[in-house]
Amino acid sequence: MKIATPAPVDLFQVQDRLSDEERLVRRAVGRFVDERFLPLVQRHFRAGTFPLELVPEMGALGIFGMTLEGYGCAGASAIAYGAAMQELERGDSALRSFASVQGALCMYPIHAYGSEAQRARFLPPMARGELIGCFGLTEPDFGSDPGGLRTRAVRDGDAYVLDGAKAWITNGSLADVAVIWAKVGGPDARAIRGFLVEKGTPGFTARDVEGKLSLRASVTSELHLDGVRVPAENVLPGTEGLGLRAPLSCLSKARYGIAWGAVGAAIACFESARAYARERIQFARPIASFQLVQEKLVDVWEGIVKGQLLALRLGELEDQGGATAAQISMAKRANVRMARDAARTCREILGAAGIVDDHPPMRHMANLESVYTYEGTHDVHTLALGRAATGIDAFT
Ligand code: FAD
Repeated sequence: MKIATPAPVDLFQVQDRLSDEERLVRRAVGRFVDERFLPLVQRHFRAGTFPLELVPEMGALGIFGMTLEGYGCAGASAIAYGAAMQELERGDSALRSFASVQGALCMYPIHAYGSEAQRARFLPPMARGELIGCFGLTEPDFGSDPGGLRTRAVRDGDAYVLDGAKAWITNGSLADVAVIWAKVGGPDARAIRGFLVEKGTPGFTARDVEGKLSLRASVTSELHLDGVRVPAENVLPGTEGLGLRAPLSCLSKARYGIAWGAVGAAIACFESARAYARERIQFARPIASFQLVQEKLVDVWEGIVKGQLLALRLGELEDQGGATAAQISMAKRANVRMARDAARTCREILGAAGIVDDHPPMRHMANLESVYTYEGTHDVHTLALGRAATGIDAFT
């Protein structure tokens, strides 16, 4: 049987639409993932740990806060940032999640809403990966409906006193600084503000979530705030009067990265399943020669190619002045669903071998359950897009 060299995954040559600088970023991050991260991922996924020793290397690559200007940040295009997120998630969603939280959910709000002193103090060490951040919006009783959050901040002299709890916080126990979203005032308070709460502040504790079957190589924690005194200079001044728009603007930046990243997870699954199918012999032929297997591979490949084109166009819009919330919702929703389906199909192509972690599809499949749920669940994005499509709100 003649077996020719297969076509590249990037059939529509999306790579050619990247500038030289964007291609360089992609290649450098890709090499980091192949050489530094992938040899470690199996061990960390099994142990439920994150390879913290790689964080300064990620900083040196300019990954953290990549699109931000000044303060040691790379000031790169949204497309370069997206390409980097795609490479990171080709490694593991945990790696991309770390970068998303550090950059989009912690550095971005400090850059956009922080005082000059906060920016100068926190952003340079965060860009270098010397200081880790996290983002606390979700609470035990408020996930998809964050407007109900109960964490309260009450002014007391030159400080605010914070009480409450945050749930499912990526990097929670690792973080040196947490962006905590709280309502200011007593029990009837409505105004939401962002606070920079530093590790070690009395009353501020983190407890890691045990027993996760998804995103195992990422640290996820509960945060408890029990009479935590936060100096008034740690309030993000620009969040005043914005309500939920401030945290939602951070989530938009992170969702943008997920729209690209999910394609990377799907690529890892496709490459693994394709290589396996070309070598695995059953009925005296490679299983890749069977039409049913070819159909599965083609469906996955087509999903990846469409996902790449969608991410690229989203990147162009973002670079031309900012993608809309609906555009970001559609790309996050479509690409994460595509990747989740792709991971499952690729696992299937690997047969029994697909259920062990020598091959990446099942790890990605498990991870993508979290990616499908966080940063707005698939359903919540459906409702947001449903509202955009019809002009009618079906949320409540
Ligand atoms: P719920 O809101 O309780 O939803 C449960 C189900 O009901 C879902 O299927 C949902 O789609 C559906 N549902 C809810 N409302 C509606 C509706 N109106 N119509 C139809 N269906 C609906 N949060 C942070 O703040 N910071 C982090 O760093 C962070 N990291 C995370 C890391 C991981 C691994 C995970 C799993 C979550 C993380 N989250 C984080 C929390 C995440 O954003 C929430 O899990 C998410 O918003 C959904 O909230 P929930 O889990 O409480 O689900």
